[in-house]
Amino acid sequence: MTDFAATRARFHLPEGLIYLDGNSLGPLPLAAADRVAATIRDEWGDMLIRGWNAAGWMDMPARVGDRIGRLIGAAPGTVVMGDTLSIKVYQALAAAVELNPGRRVILSDSGNFPSDLYIAEGLCRTLGQGFRLVTVAPGEVEAALSPEVAVMMLTEVDYRTGRLHDMAGLTAAAHAAGALTVWDLAHSAGALPVDLAGAGADFAVGCTYKYLNSGPGGPAFIYVAPRWADRARPALSGWLGHDAPFAFEPSYRPGRGIERMRVGTPPILQLAALEAALDVWDIADIRDVRARSIELTEAFISGVEAACPGLVLASPRAPAARGSQVSFRHPEGYAIMQALIARGVIGDFRAPDILRFGFTPLFIGMQEVRDAVEVLAEVMATAAWDRPAYRARARVT
Ligand SMILES: *Cc1c(COP(=O)(O)O)cnc(C)c1O
Repeated sequence: MTDFAATRARFHLPEGLIYLDGNSLGPLPLAAADRVAATIRDEWGDMLIRGWNAAGWMDMPARVGDRIGRLIGAAPGTVVMGDTLSIKVYQALAAAVELNPGRRVILSDSGNFPSDLYIAEGLCRTLGQGFRLVTVAPGEVEAALSPEVAVMMLTEVDYRTGRLHDMAGLTAAAHAAGALTVWDLAHSAGALPVDLAGAGADFAVGCTYKYLNSGPGGPAFIYVAPRWADRARPALSGWLGHDAPFAFEPSYRPGRGIERMRVGTPPILQLAALEAALDVWDIADIRDVRARSIELTEAFISGVEAACPGLVLASPRAPAARGSQVSFRHPEGYAIMQALIARGVIGDFRAPDILRFGFTPLFIGMQEVRDAVEVLAEVMATAAWDRPAYRARARVT
């Protein structure tokens, strides 16, 4: 059984704050601060260019990818790090579409994160030839798997509501309909058990600054199933995905397996932060994290529903049908969230009316849940949110 007091001790958590936004930006792991400082001083500082070989910088994208692979059911050598999630969505989609010639539809759902949908739109525009993105309601994806669908692109956990898709079931349905799959694990990796190999997923992508705590702008990951790894053609054919980058050949030849999904120079400082952040998984079992997350979200839902009649649950009620976040709707959701943040309870707001709270058992326990419910109840009962200052929208919500 995971010792959650021990996992919590590994994070820097500012005094007096209840941080329910680890689903958007994970807190700072103490080891990451030390590791980045050491990487700057001992590696960049003293090794200079020699760090690429001597400090293993060039191998980091694959080495760190393997550690993430263990959390998402991906075999060694099938995950690589780099770039942003939006870029990784593009790479996975472009490769998947090309592997399924003759079909012109990318199918997704209306709950998907906008960047994934925008990237799909942009890819369709570049491809021309009638390629198009079709989005349906989350519950209607399976029924929309027509013979035109080349790729089904879904985010497993809905960023607004926390609704969890059945990855294995939908992947099987997509395959039965002749479509390939791209799964976005942005709100899954580090939040709940994922079994990419078991589900038969073709491609998967995800970011690391949410539940994996790599810090703002931390690199994303991409998974390619072994059966596609040497056939997937990189749309972003950068030199570090070349079979022999330092041969400096005039023309691109894709590297072996997952290495071809690298693009350019990896972000070593952010990878160092991520590598240190992943150490917490040496003492945490993702199944324990999931079980505790369900206890926390259940307690939060029943506490809020009992104390705040004006808030409407936007997340699925059944714990097995949601990820590690809970969302409530209220027309004044933005102002309510600002009032909460002013009182040291940090969640976030997603337009048009969603208050979003993430529960990450690595550093959140039952006491924080009770305290957060109490603060929210006070804000609602006294209408403390009803102030112009709380209605003024910031650039990031
Ligand atoms: C957080 C998130 C993103 C963000 O993409 P970046 O390129 O890292 O900014 C994209 N897709 C989903 C599903 C997300 O949850």
